Amino acid sequence: MSEAALPGTDVPHYHTVGIGAGPANLSLAALFESATTETIALFDSQPDAGWHNRLLHSGVRMQTSWLKDLVSLVDARHELTFLNYLVTTGRMFAFMNSQFDFMPRTEYVRYLSWAASKLRHVHYGVRIDQITLGDNGFALFSAGRPVGTGEHLVIGMGSRPFIPAEFVGLPADRAFIADDLAERIGDLGADTGAPVAVAGGGQTGIEAVMFLLGKGFTNIKWFGRRLWFETIDDSPTANDVYRPAHMQALQRLSPATRRRIIERLNPTGDALTPGAVRALYQANYDAMLVTGHFPVTMFPGRDVHSGVLDQAGDGSDEIVLHCRTPEKPEQHRVRHLVIATGRENTPVPFDDELGERIEIGEDGELIVEPDFSVRWKGMNGHQIYALNRSRLGHGLTDANLTLLPVRAAIVLNSMFGREMFEIRDELCPVNWG
Ligand SMILES: Cc1cc2nc3c(=O)[nH]c(=O)nc-3n(C[C@H](O)[C@H](O)[C@H](O)COP(=O)(O)OP(=O)(O)OC[C@H]3O[C@@H](n4cnc5c(N)ncnc54)[C@H](O)[C@@H]3O)c2cc1C
Repeated sequence: MSEAALPGTDVPHYHTVGIGAGPANLSLAALFESATTETIALFDSQPDAGWHNRLLHSGVRMQTSWLKDLVSLVDARHELTFLNYLVTTGRMFAFMNSQFDFMPRTEYVRYLSWAASKLRHVHYGVRIDQITLGDNGFALFSAGRPVGTGEHLVIGMGSRPFIPAEFVGLPADRAFIADDLAERIGDLGADTGAPVAVAGGGQTGIEAVMFLLGKGFTNIKWFGRRLWFETIDDSPTANDVYRPAHMQALQRLSPATRRRIIERLNPTGDALTPGAVRALYQANYDAMLVTGHFPVTMFPGRDVHSGVLDQAGDGSDEIVLHCRTPEKPEQHRVRHLVIATGRENTPVPFDDELGERIEIGEDGELIVEPDFSVRWKGMNGHQIYALNRSRLGHGLTDANLTLLPVRAAIVLNSMFGREMFEIRDELCPVNWG
């Protein structure tokens, strides 16, 4: 069936509809369109192509090699390789001679936007707020209006930042998520010497610290829960867990063992980019040479478990942060708090009838099978796939960009019931058991 409307309706019908046009679904749509004449449509709530735009501070870098683009790992001759983007947009030599260890995130966003513009049915500015099941498969609704139907559905809705319960009561102008920092920087006041805390020892946390430093703040307290601010392990052994052979090995394990192994592997991916840490240390040192003190103080091993508003000696309000540490509890008084403590899966807007058919695991999440299909009752030939929602079932590669085309290929091979894409990884020196 093409994208033509079904008889008796003017709603476009596609073979597959996808919610979200982030890297996960763009990779899937890129491989889909190169392998079949069937149609796939993506709907994204953003006004136009973008990727974590509110965290796109000056100088931020990717954590992944440019080789890990939307398609190359499965089909290096695909039109939408990053290399083709560089050549056809005339930036190949400038990019190459800049000798980035990791490319600017802005460049990756441009690449995604370029790739999306080459796909046939990527619709921006459409927030899907209801998914229903009918005779024609899935119908997607936006603001009460059906925008498309499809035989199959792919959920690529990513994650969203949230304010954890311990900070919910704090006033919004004093404590806010890192995604809001660039917008709120003007509200932080002229007193750049006032203490500002950043809670969260991950990449978003360090980028918030660097942003504040760049704006002239001189008393930045950076809190991380882990015992040290760990950098990503980019060694060959660490990288061996980001390949199809390891993905397959994980699927052979019992859920409990798999979970334990994936949790132990966190530092290989869920940690700081060494380049960002070096940049922070050098900027901190430079500032110390000028003022005689380090503007950034790092507080590792601090679990900030509550924040309350209190009056300072001069009558102004301060936030008191209560921290658990490996030994004695601590308190820190700050003027503002930037929250970079993590993200949660974006909820899927199944309507009640469809929602009742979806099987939910103990963790309250969708149950995602090895081929990324979602377990639900009454499938009747219609499949739902979910990308980036099964970190503990599929490993860290499901939560990041390292194997996007491989995951897309697994989905397409399953969706079409044949090997549309060959996934090759036979030259592996590791015996995973
Ligand atoms: C700042 C940041 C930097 C990162 N950098 C890296 C990196 O360098 N390397 C790496 O491997 N991983 C990185 N990650 C982790 C991960 O790879 C990314 O989060 C990645 O964006 C996941 O891709 P996705 O397509 O699954 O989700 P997203 O990129 O989040 O895309 C989801 C899309 O769905 C849309 N959407 C959501 N709900 C709806 C709805 N109801 N209707 C319509 N559209 C909707 C959103 O607008 C969004 O565009 C980073 C994460 C963050 C937050």
